Amino acid sequence: MSNLRFKVVEEAFQKKALEVKVPTERPSEYFGKYVFDRQKMLKYLPLDVFKKLRDVIENGAFLDDSVADQVAAGMKTWAIEHGVTHCTHWFMPLTEGTAEKHDAFIEHDLKGGVIEDFSGKQLVQQEPDASSFPSGGIRSTFEARGYSAWDPSSPVFIVGDTLMIPTVFISYTGEALDYKAPLKRALLAVDKAATDVARYFNPEVKHVQANLGWEQEYFLVDEGLYAARPDLELTGRTLMGHDSAKNQQMEDHYFGAIPSRVAEFMKDLEIQALELGIPCKTRHNEVAPNQFELAPIYEECNLAVDHNMLIMSLMRKVARKHGFRCLLHEKPFKGINGSGKHCNWSLSTDNGILLHAPGKDENSGLRFITFVVETLMGVYRHNGLLKASIMSASNQHRLGANEAPPAIISSFLGRQVSEVLDKLEQASPTELSKLKGKHEVRLGIPQIPDLYIDNTDRNRTSPFAFTGNRFEFRAVGSQANCAASMLVLNTAVAQALTSFKKRVDALIAAGTEQTEAILTILREDIKTCKPIHFEGNGYSEEWKQEARRRGLDCETSCPVIFDRYLDEESVKMFQEMNVMKEYELKARNDIKWETFTKKIQIEARVFGDLAMNHIIPVATRYQSMLIDNVHKLASVFPKDEADAINADNIAIIKKISKHTGFIIENVQKMIDARKVANKVASTREKAVLYHDTVAPFLESIRYHIDKLELIVEDEMWTLPKYRELLFIR
Ligand code: ADP
Ligand code: MG
Repeated sequence: MSNLRFKVVEEAFQKKALEVKVPTERPSEYFGKYVFDRQKMLKYLPLDVFKKLRDVIENGAFLDDSVADQVAAGMKTWAIEHGVTHCTHWFMPLTEGTAEKHDAFIEHDLKGGVIEDFSGKQLVQQEPDASSFPSGGIRSTFEARGYSAWDPSSPVFIVGDTLMIPTVFISYTGEALDYKAPLKRALLAVDKAATDVARYFNPEVKHVQANLGWEQEYFLVDEGLYAARPDLELTGRTLMGHDSAKNQQMEDHYFGAIPSRVAEFMKDLEIQALELGIPCKTRHNEVAPNQFELAPIYEECNLAVDHNMLIMSLMRKVARKHGFRCLLHEKPFKGINGSGKHCNWSLSTDNGILLHAPGKDENSGLRFITFVVETLMGVYRHNGLLKASIMSASNQHRLGANEAPPAIISSFLGRQVSEVLDKLEQASPTELSKLKGKHEVRLGIPQIPDLYIDNTDRNRTSPFAFTGNRFEFRAVGSQANCAASMLVLNTAVAQALTSFKKRVDALIAAGTEQTEAILTILREDIKTCKPIHFEGNGYSEEWKQEARRRGLDCETSCPVIFDRYLDEESVKMFQEMNVMKEYELKARNDIKWETFTKKIQIEARVFGDLAMNHIIPVATRYQSMLIDNVHKLASVFPKDEADAINADNIAIIKKISKHTGFIIENVQKMIDARKVANKVASTREKAVLYHDTVAPFLESIRYHIDKLELIVEDEMWTLPKYRELLFIR
């Protein structure tokens, strides 16, 4: 009998916290230690080179070769001082995670030896062997090789002995092969559109940047227990396991004291993150046992995306050092909360104004309402697409599971903002005429310029909630690359703002005064986007009905939701905003469908193996023991008495047969369903079949396995149970 489970459980119980050495400097002193930031640029680059580089970073100026060489030389000096020997372009192919290929700094010195060398060319452009990254056929169709190009807006940093260079990954003909390239285009689009609109209120505005503050949720599991769960190891989630008698019902984990082993892990993680320039701010326990959250201060969106990718890999690494495994899957355990990554998003101007906050300056009320309404317009017009942007084989388990927003996008605004919008929409012509004029816009109750938005007015069931000076996109999955949703959100808002500006300008051209023109279009848009505005309980059954009546996208099947990327409206939006072309979207969808299929395929295989190699043998062995016992009892007791005693035994024996019978029969059916799906050529149809005909077996068979877990003798059970995975420190 395998007693690995007992061994690993015992070991996990005995583990002590690994004490972390805290730096003697203060966090403000070691923050960004391993980042080639402004300070280091000033120190390691000649002043004229620094100025040119700053122009590249701030204004997107062209980086010429000689400047690149000088920048590379400065970086090399700094890096070598930190013991760096290698460099890599760091990029985000359309897989999960990031990719890197390390090159040593060395070059022949032409005297038989080597020298440390790092040229501008190596910094600016590389050609990783891209053939094994998914491109959805773009490379073969266009015979374009992939190359990675430095993104100077995200600073270079050091991890271990390697200089990491954030890059975009594109084909030679310009198609995006990654998440970053379209994200950057979307950010450019929203910069342009929002700057144009912000200038109505403040002509000085030169740029608008999108901000992102993510809140990363995760689970920690002892690594020994993890190693004894092949499902966790291979799929990131438990495919079976009965509820623990106690899980989150006492609500005693949320914000509770952080266990010492975990506290040391967090300390270690935060020190390393701060050194990498990630401004970690908040850490706490989450709702489920062994679930935690980490959130930094918000940053410019592209940088925040890089930092999130970086922290996810750091979390995995640091967790192992502390004897944990970090689970970033959206739903590692059934029956308790899954993990999300709330994405707090806002726009701000180069002169520091948050456009989604009511400010103190003149016109700020109308500006605030304009940006809130046009954000809603973008979200309304593309609600199905936004849902597609957060959908995945893993996040589908979380959405709509009474712990996370449903698979319907809606927006919560809170009482005050809702009242303002209603008031504006319903204002009579006389009331409206009072609002005109160059000065402050006063809308009666509550007066916008004085508006204090109550930050505690929260609705946790809303997937896209206004929270005082930003929107919080809560439907994003914990292991997702935030770029996927951020590029859709920013493009959608860019389109809405562009259309708004066009219509306002048309009215102004026809002689309407500016404020009146803005108010007129806003009233129009408030009416149009009304269906997206929902203040009620997003978890309720009634909302699903209501959302359908309102015409919101209510599709729940992940592979079908991906269709939204190819809707006419979506293609038009991406093209108009110069973010992606139709064939790029098609190629990306192929990758999405393929990834979905592969994920379910792997889960089904692992599940089938575990069912047949762990569960059935153990259940059968236990059943044999019971049968043996039946015979033995019959040999010692008179028949009548033995029959009476054996009645219970036999009931259990039958129950086991019922469960094992179902499992064996349905594992075979699941394999057959896979065979049918595998023969289908279309990536979309295959994904749909995997969703409709393969995935349901995982649930129906699991039910019987979980029942067996309750029947079979504890000592025989080979897989660590939920109560062990979730409560061990
Ligand atoms: P919560 O109550 O949702 O946990 P926090 O105040 O902890 O809220 O903030 C969560 C995240 O939102 C943090 O990353 C924070 O920096 C970010 N955030 C705050 N204000 C903004 C803003 N205007 N734009 C974008 N992100 C913001
Ligand atoms: Mg939050």
